[in-house]
Amino acid sequence: MSRVYNFSAGPSCLPESVLQEAAQEMLDYKGTGQSVMEMSHRSKAYEPIIQDAEARIRRLMNIPDSYAVLFLQGGASTQFAMIPMNLKKLGKAAYIDTGVWSNKAIKEAKKYLSVDVVASSRQEGYTFIPKVDKIEGEYDYAYITLNNTIVGTKWSYLPEMGTRADGTAIPLVADVSSCILSEPLDVTKFGILFAGAQKNLAPAGVTVVIIRRDLITEFPDPLTPTMLDYKTHADSGSMYNTPPCYTIYIMGKVLAWIEANGGAEGMKKRNEEKAHMLYDYLEKSTFYKSPVEKDSRSLMNIPFVIYETDEEKEKELNKKFVAEAAAAGLVNLAGHRLVGGMRASLYNAMSLDGVKALIAFMDKFAKENA
Ligand SMILES: *Cc1c(COP(=O)(O)O)cnc(C)c1O
Repeated sequence: MSRVYNFSAGPSCLPESVLQEAAQEMLDYKGTGQSVMEMSHRSKAYEPIIQDAEARIRRLMNIPDSYAVLFLQGGASTQFAMIPMNLKKLGKAAYIDTGVWSNKAIKEAKKYLSVDVVASSRQEGYTFIPKVDKIEGEYDYAYITLNNTIVGTKWSYLPEMGTRADGTAIPLVADVSSCILSEPLDVTKFGILFAGAQKNLAPAGVTVVIIRRDLITEFPDPLTPTMLDYKTHADSGSMYNTPPCYTIYIMGKVLAWIEANGGAEGMKKRNEEKAHMLYDYLEKSTFYKSPVEKDSRSLMNIPFVIYETDEEKEKELNKKFVAEAAAAGLVNLAGHRLVGGMRASLYNAMSLDGVKALIAFMDKFAKENA
């Protein structure tokens, strides 16, 4: 058996020990004579699995009881609609445009309420996070994408939330799909945090929503589908209908792996070591460069481009890089078409050895093609 180093932006690599455990339990989970895939979600064997996953995520992120933790389906993309549908009261929300994912969220929100894009780095190709000191206005919520998977930026600060006429602060909503549990995060600064699990937590199929309970309203629009009402899922412990049972089981194992490796602090240390190693290499290189401004750089998704003024030649070199890297066991390094070049996603499960192997390959490629 040979395993590659997988730099995919998502779905992405999982800790090998998690895959091994799941393989061992595949045919007979803890003496039940069944796979977790085959079990009723209401069975005695399954109940502790989902409860354990929730308890672990609560411990790892210090989530207070005043927040509900929901395991939903439909991907992070469904949250782009669920958020405005459920939070709409005043009829207006503030969004900050930091790339493709915030754009998709903006487009969807506009179906339900009026959207003020209060800041954007679009003109500059989304190469940095705009500076927003404070958001003020009669907004139902303000929305940010904490880590921008495609362009490789992340928020290194949070804007201050203004007070509305009724005396309450504007709730901050953040898409944390590509950075959840990559480092500590103060949950109490947010009204809603949500993440598609397929980047840092699990295989695809579950979306984690962490929502302050007072935002779970009694009566959203009566036309809101039951499945898109947060209250449905909060009241039923994410068991209103069949949850993505197997994905939640694997997520529980990934969360246990994070706990065993120092929790959110441990992940931060591990991720900073990996990311700094690659950024330092890019800084020193005369062949590659990072397109992202220093104070906005992501710990998780690191795009890099080759210095080459001839566009055709650059495209050829990119193709050659991706193909030769794959042949060397370093896969999924093609950049997003919007950014070009290459992108290495260094999620929690990527090892330092993987990053070292990538840098060694990059160095060899640079020498051969300079
Ligand atoms: C991947 C990603 C999404 C989309 O997630 P789906 O689960 O595929 O809907 C949304 N936001 C960010 C920041 C992402 O990285």
